Amino acid sequence: MKYIEIFVKNALTKSGLENTDYSLNPYKGCEHQCVYCYAPYVLHMSLDEWRNVVYVKRNLPTVLDKELKKKRGFVTLGSVTDAYQPSEKKYEITRRCLEILLKHRVPISILTKSSLVLRDLDLLSRFSEAHVGITLTTLDDSLRKKVEANSSSVDERLKVLQESEGKAIRYIFVGPILPRITTPYLQDIVKEAERMNLDYIIFDRFRWKKNMLLPYELEERIKGMDYEKIKRELMRISKQTSIPVYLDW
Ligand code: SF4
Repeated sequence: MKYIEIFVKNALTKSGLENTDYSLNPYKGCEHQCVYCYAPYVLHMSLDEWRNVVYVKRNLPTVLDKELKKKRGFVTLGSVTDAYQPSEKKYEITRRCLEILLKHRVPISILTKSSLVLRDLDLLSRFSEAHVGITLTTLDDSLRKKVEANSSSVDERLKVLQESEGKAIRYIFVGPILPRITTPYLQDIVKEAERMNLDYIIFDRFRWKKNMLLPYELEERIKGMDYEKIKRELMRISKQTSIPVYLDW
């Protein structure tokens, strides 16, 4: 993996995500290398560049500090990257941005596939509103390795939620729902959420992007998925649990 340090002019991006005003992405590129990642297609990067280069936004905390003197709203960290990918251990751009967001009393949400977020619980616990979510596309770690090669294991991710109890608003994001990888575990993921008394769960379907390249077998299976049927199953499951369940399609 190649790391290139860059200097940016803007920090916050107006967001189209629900319940979010701005996105903040400390890196461009992502080491987790999920096979279904759509970020390179959103950012118009080649798949080769996306998989081999991480651009580190060195001055992001300083630019963010200036912008927050004028801009107010809810900020989501890592909409097209993972703010806690391995490079964060060395560069600490996300941690320094959290310090700035805390200083300006901004409500935030982080969604990650990395247990590195535990390092920053000291900061996260001081926000008036901080949502900490982990993505789960399966409960089988051998399948997780196939689709999200460089991310934290399933157990490490669940540990994030356990250790964040009382320190953040905790949730699981189940997405994209993948055939044979996620589908056998929908009910069990909800049970995990109940066991840990989480605040909510979000389920999302797979979303195609123009020119998207997926492993052939996965592409064929996704084309055969009936997401409306899955939606009906999730609605049935949601009626049997006290945890709020949101379907994103
Ligand atoms: S963690 Fe997110 S941004 Fe990173 S490769 Fe996976 S899907 Fe893409």
